[in-house]
Amino acid sequence: MHKAGFINIIGCPNVGKSTLVNALIGERLAIVTSKAQTTRHRMMGIVNGPDYQLVISDTPGFLSPAYKLQEKMMHFVEDALEDADIFLLVSDVFEKILPSESILLHLKNTKQPVLLLLNKIDATKQDITLAKILDWRTILPNADVIPISALHKINLEIVMEKILSLLPIHEPFFDKEAMTDKSERFFVEEIIREKILLNYKKEIPYSCQVIVESFKEEEKIIRIDATIYVERDSQKAIIIGHQGNALKKTGTEARLDCETFFAKKIYLGLFVKVDKDWRSNVKSLKKFGFH
Ligand code: GDP
Ligand code: MG
Repeated sequence: MHKAGFINIIGCPNVGKSTLVNALIGERLAIVTSKAQTTRHRMMGIVNGPDYQLVISDTPGFLSPAYKLQEKMMHFVEDALEDADIFLLVSDVFEKILPSESILLHLKNTKQPVLLLLNKIDATKQDITLAKILDWRTILPNADVIPISALHKINLEIVMEKILSLLPIHEPFFDKEAMTDKSERFFVEEIIREKILLNYKKEIPYSCQVIVESFKEEEKIIRIDATIYVERDSQKAIIIGHQGNALKKTGTEARLDCETFFAKKIYLGLFVKVDKDWRSNVKSLKKFGFH
């Protein structure tokens, strides 16, 4: 039985969210999106085990003063409050300001399990840690409170065990085999593939292969060119659709998902090419990463 799920990490700035994500992902790292350290962008990491897959996303801190980024970052916080199987709210032993009422209320009322990770216990005395644990039990009665040190990897195996015990039974969300190449391109290809599956019938999706031909990150935009390879001209016509509408729809949907994923404006150029019987053509298969 395979388990898989989305884990969202929430918390004020500087409590150690990024440190925690890195520690949890560790050597098991599959993919982390760019700018992982800056946390202005939402980052996502994937941890694969033999029978589980965790998709972990870190959220920018949400309590900073009203500087310009704030509004945009709030957007990610709202996103982070949805669509998770497990929430990790990170706090630390020094934290004086609490997350906003609305965020706490959300975490109190969510049906999903919430773990409160009290970080940086290495940097204080035990009685302070204990007092903080009791505080959090009052603030969030539905949360499991686990004292940790992300930096010194204290109690992280307990966190992992707890996460695995709460994880729903589900097939992997991202192809474990294909992920060995660790690239951002892989994510874009997966997103496009998903849209093809949603937008076309029957055998069409299975005759498609998506390749990101170029991926250029600029300051304000990421420019991506991708090609959908099909086996026959008739399939190409179906992918493009009447007046190009089907391809436009697929491209727009994929672009919007890419923008959320990379937290950046995206230009997505989507092309369709025929590569006759690519499925049985060894050279093409190599190009597509099947060796
Ligand atoms: P974020 O803003 O929540 O992502 O926090 P970061 O992961 O960037 O960490 C903020 C600061 O706290 C950094 O200087 C980390 O080294 C430090 N930090 C993180 N975890 C721990 C911990 O377990 N113990 C101590 N003493 N410091 C930590
Ligand atoms: Mg961070």
